Amino acid sequence: MQDYELSVQHVLWRMERLHSKKEVVTKREQGFHRITNGELVRRVNRLAGALKRLGVKPGDRVATLAWNNYRHLELYYAVPCMGAVLHTLNLRLFPQHLEFIINDAEDKVLFVDQTLVPLLKPLVGKIPSIKTIVLMTDGAPAAADHGLGELLDYETLLAAESDDYPWPKLSERMAASMCYTSGTTGNPKGVVYSHRSQFLHTMGALGADSLAITEKDTVLPIVAMFHANSWGLPYACGMAGSKVLLPDRFMGDAKSIVDMAEQEDATILAGVPTIWIGTVAYLKESGKRLPKVHTVICGGSAIPRALMESMDALGLRMLHAWGMTETSPLGSVARPKADTKPEDELNARLTQGVAGAGVEIRICDSATGVELPWDGVAFGEIQVRGPWIARGYHNGYDPGKLTEDGWFRTGDVAKITPEGYIEIVDRTKDVIKSGGEWISSVELENAIMAHPKILEAAVIGMAHPKWDERPVAYAVPKPEFKGKVTQEEVIDFLRDKVAKWWLPDEVRFIDEVPKTSVGKFDKKVLRASAAPIKEGAAPAVRK
Ligand code: AMP
Repeated sequence: MQDYELSVQHVLWRMERLHSKKEVVTKREQGFHRITNGELVRRVNRLAGALKRLGVKPGDRVATLAWNNYRHLELYYAVPCMGAVLHTLNLRLFPQHLEFIINDAEDKVLFVDQTLVPLLKPLVGKIPSIKTIVLMTDGAPAAADHGLGELLDYETLLAAESDDYPWPKLSERMAASMCYTSGTTGNPKGVVYSHRSQFLHTMGALGADSLAITEKDTVLPIVAMFHANSWGLPYACGMAGSKVLLPDRFMGDAKSIVDMAEQEDATILAGVPTIWIGTVAYLKESGKRLPKVHTVICGGSAIPRALMESMDALGLRMLHAWGMTETSPLGSVARPKADTKPEDELNARLTQGVAGAGVEIRICDSATGVELPWDGVAFGEIQVRGPWIARGYHNGYDPGKLTEDGWFRTGDVAKITPEGYIEIVDRTKDVIKSGGEWISSVELENAIMAHPKILEAAVIGMAHPKWDERPVAYAVPKPEFKGKVTQEEVIDFLRDKVAKWWLPDEVRFIDEVPKTSVGKFDKKVLRASAAPIKEGAAPAVRK
């Protein structure tokens, strides 16, 4: 067989030669921006020329601070295909984290959306590796009060280049891109993807038992392009030749999302559960439906049962996937197997699914490291290995994440059924230990979120003198039930759903669950501000 180097260049070739008429549509303030793949690839060539002219060499890191839009997509191709490394910056991070990440990656050039320029202001004078900042804007450049010095204009740079960049021959082991973990504990850590891992991950994502994206699809990723490769969707769509819809900075706005999906005939949507909680509310209230959508890919957090049921009722079929930045991110996908009985379908779809082709998985006791059986009962840390799983972090942080025999320790705790379905119980740091027994915060949250008056719930373990830790729930009532739901009501609702000793000691009502930079429940923030459990609380357990 030929010794063919796997690289992102192949995806670009397919977009140009096989799918040049397909469109990439980006939401704008007013209406949509449209570009064909053919035109986009020409601009990618120009962009590569501009990068070279700016002095970008193979292996140099090129950072992006951008929303989901066509210019960001151009960078997804131009940077790796010319041999440099695309580093997507998470625009929701605090300035200290951004500063740390840019310096840790030693980014050389930074591309920034006009609306995000203010995020760079606090970093002036603190990111010495950045030699050039390129501004991406549709209108007049930003006023020069940002203190960042001269910003180059993206469109002016492209205008000066030719449509025909001499793409270099790449080795598949070269770095293509990097992304930092979202840093819920300590500093974020950089994960570096190779051309080979991106290529194989893309092939894995396209599989019929995986995300099954095809040329006939129109895909709307509401997953940030700065987070975990946007779940690999940009390259998967390029490889398959699907039409792509990019919501730019309107990702949290259910109306914008539904309108775009409706007007552009989306067939596949993708996003974290929080996005769909908002979408369900909007669809119910507006009476709109999206009959052309056949799949709603959902991951990043477990899907609450109530959410999947509401989405089913609206004709939106969710496809549950699990993964993390370190797994590129696709690890497993929940498609019920052929022998699933109809009454077990929903349960199977609510699991984190089975490991995708290319990913090996096992569960191990967190303390002893001993491998555990797949009996649907024993639970331990998920460990994975495969060609798109990280073996370490940029600059060598946290070497203990790799076991001695080469498996990556995910920090997620799960059971695996004899059929291979993964059921995540918790993060190792979120699981609650009460009286020597484990309580899954995720299961409790899902049970609480099934209450008709509750919108969102997060459960944390709080120190307890007798039991070591006890669960405390933070619940957000639906707007119409604000002030009209009681702790007792919630606890009574849980009585026949979870073990008695799992019932939370307290249910505290809040307006919103704090979220991390990528939209997950931020239990660290809840823990930091949580008042201790009240003396004499836990009526639930004693009753
Ligand atoms: P990130 O690297 O920011 O994408 O976060 C990855 C983490 O999100 C995983 O380690 C899990 O803890 C969590 N996660 C991702 N997908 C799921 C899922 N389907 N169900 C439960 N947790 C998930």
